[in-house]
Order: sequence, then C-alpha cells, then structure tokens
Amino acid sequence: MNITILGSTGSIGTQALQVVDDLKGTKDISVLAISGNSNTELLEQQARKYNTKYAVVADENKYSDLKNRLADTDIKVLCGEEGLCTASTLGGVDMVLSSIVGFAGLVPTMKAIESGKDIALANKETLVTAGALFTDAVEKYGVRLLPVDSEHSAIFQSMHGGAEKEVRKILLTASGGPFFGKTRDELTEIRKEQALKHPNWSMGAKITIDSATLMNKGLEIIEAKWLFDVDIEDIEVVVHRESIIHSMVEFVDKSVIAQLSLPSMKHPIQYAFTYPERLPSPDSSVSFSQIGKMTFFEPDEETFRCLALAKKAGRMGGTMPTVLNAANEVAVSAFLHDKIGFLDIADFVEKVMDSYKNKLNPTIEDIIMTDKSVREEYRI
Ligand code: NDP
Ligand code: MG
Repeated sequence: MNITILGSTGSIGTQALQVVDDLKGTKDISVLAISGNSNTELLEQQARKYNTKYAVVADENKYSDLKNRLADTDIKVLCGEEGLCTASTLGGVDMVLSSIVGFAGLVPTMKAIESGKDIALANKETLVTAGALFTDAVEKYGVRLLPVDSEHSAIFQSMHGGAEKEVRKILLTASGGPFFGKTRDELTEIRKEQALKHPNWSMGAKITIDSATLMNKGLEIIEAKWLFDVDIEDIEVVVHRESIIHSMVEFVDKSVIAQLSLPSMKHPIQYAFTYPERLPSPDSSVSFSQIGKMTFFEPDEETFRCLALAKKAGRMGGTMPTVLNAANEVAVSAFLHDKIGFLDIADFVEKVMDSYKNKLNPTIEDIIMTDKSVREEYRI
C-alpha cells in the first residue's frame, strides 16, 4: 500500500510512521509523501528515512530551508496549500492519513477524496466544519473513510456487532481530562502548563486543550454524527477515567458492544491502515487484574460549557459548526499564548456563535468564507 501522511511531524503523524515500521514484513507500506507546517528538521529526517517522493512544508517561509536540507536527494520539495494538495492527490497513493491539526486540513483532504484516495481521518475539525460536503464527496467518489480518532475507531469496530438499523445509540467515552471534578471557581486561575498535562494521552497542544475544556468531546459528537449517520440526541457522552473502553454501541436489544485496549493511538492508526484485516501489534495487552476497576460518570456540562456549545452547533447544522470550530481555534491559540484565561475559551466561542447568522446547506466557499471571517473579525 502507498500512502501520504499529511501532518507527519505531529503526534499522530509520528505515531503513524511507527506503525509503518511495526507492520514491516506483515504489510509493507510505502510513504510517498509527507507534510509538516514548520518542523523542517524532522521533515528532512522522515523524508530521508522513508525515501519519500515528496516533502511538503505548509509554511512558505520554510520552503528554502527544507529545499536546502534535501538538496542532495531526488525528493521533491513543495510548500503551501498547493503543495499539500499535490501530496494528497499523488498518482499511485492508495490512502491519505489526514493528520494536520485544525481547519488547514480541509482543502487537501477534500482534494484527496475527489482524486479517489481512501482517507484515514484524524483531523476531526474537517468533518466538524464541512460534514455534509465531506460525507457526500466520500459517497460520490466511492472512497473509504476510516476513523483514526480512538473513540470513532472503537465505534466503527463495535458497529460490526450488528446491522446499522439495529443501532440504538452510541456511548462516546471521555477521559474527563485533567480538570475532572473541578468547579468553575477552581478553574478561573488555570494556566496552560496545567491544561497541557493530560492524565492518559500524549497529544498535540491544541487537542490537549480541547480535551481539558471538553470541546474535544463536543467536536467528537459532531464527528460521530457524520461518520455514523446518527442524531446528536442518540450520542451519549460517558466519562470513563481509565481510557480503556474507547467507546461503545448499544443495539436495539440493549446489548452493548465495546472496543477495549490500552490508551495508544497506534491501535486505531494501525486498524485504519490494515482494515478490514487485523494484524499483530507490538503493543501491550490490557491486563484487567492490574487495572482492577473501571469507573463511569456523567459529564459536567455546566462547568465544561464547550461540550454544550458543540452540541448546540451540531444540532443547528449549517455553518454553525464552522463558526464553533473557528472560534475555538482562535480561543485555544490565544489561551496557549497566555492572552485569555481557561474559562474565557467557552465564553468567547459562545459570543462568536451568538453573533453569527446560521446559513443552512453551505457550499465549500461558504465554509471557507465563514472560517476566514471568524478569524479576521475576532482576532485576539
Ligand atoms: P500536532 O500539533 O501534534 O501535529 C499537527 C500536525 O499538523 C503537524 O505535522 C504540524 O506541522 C501540522 N500543521 C500544523 N498547522 C498546520 C497548517 N496550518 N498547515 C499544515 N500543516 C499544519 O497535532 P496532533 O497530531 O495531536 O493532532 C492532529 C489531528 O489529529 C488533530 O485534528 C487532532 O484533533 C487529531 N487527533 C489527535 C489525537 C492525538 O492523540 N494526538 C487523537 C485523536 C485525534 P509542524 O509539526 O511542522 O508544526
Ligand atoms: Mg478522541
């Protein structure tokens, strides 16, 4: 199999390359193209190690740096969105791992679908912002959309336990993040250093903050709605502190089927790469006697208001999920630059959502314009 990895320098991208190494000999995967935003040093190392045909740096200011680094090779160096789209539509590529963070992944991923590539999707923001267009394109071009987000991979795997029409609801698990059980008062002084310490997962900065605010779970509800064609009301969030059950599906007979494994993103990445097969993994097994017990709680939507806001945007549809996502990206970036407080993230997202008139059935141009207008009008 030949793949492109968009976002190869990130947390998902680097773990995907470890999976490529793990699978060597059982399923050989050639990495034809990789991309990053600015980490040219790592892009150079990866391009050399995997002998890729293309290496793309999204930040155009870094182009000459990467070009110089790879000057003694035949590897083609590209930059910008155009470069990302060339990498995502390359002839001979079977699957594109979409693991850029945020809205920037939308156009290259859409182009990959339109050129008939199967998609392993980590970049949930694209599905949140353009769910209808995305799923229509997947159907039109007859490609496979394989979830990489651990919860959605778990739902996808659990769905094999029955027919689509037999599904009653989805139980989407959440770790609860680093501030589980805290009150709003206790969260006023939170700094980025505390919010960046996730109890169970090591991830990129943006998703780590989203996990602390529970916006991540909100985005995942919208992601699940599009991936599995279910109503927002039929998705129940269950806080499960240990992150062993990655999500569950309840069927009409009230049977619940779940997928369990230790918290490692290598598991869902590998499943997306090898689907419909399962191949051996060097990861450790779950030891139930060592875990001892598993706990479950209701999420606290009054403290973690981002979850409620995402559900609201998901129910409204149209351009509102785009507004939610863009406002959240702006707010998280401001929080990471110490410009706003932790609780301001939800307040900001709510303010922006309230100020926008929703447009139903948006085109891709409407979505791109809405995203741009939020970022321009509400710069922090
Ligand atoms: P990281 O921040 O670790 O990596 C992001 C990747 O995207 C890097 O390769 C980065 O390049 C690149 N990138 C950043 N900005 C741009 C841009 N404007 N244009 C093009 N490329 C860009 O994020 P993660 O790997 O944690 O997350 C990636 C996606 O996967 C997110 O959508 C996240 O929600 C999702 N996801 C992540 C999980 C995880 O465990 N990490 C779990 C489930 C989903 P550079 O390194 O050069 O800056
Ligand atoms: Mg997840």
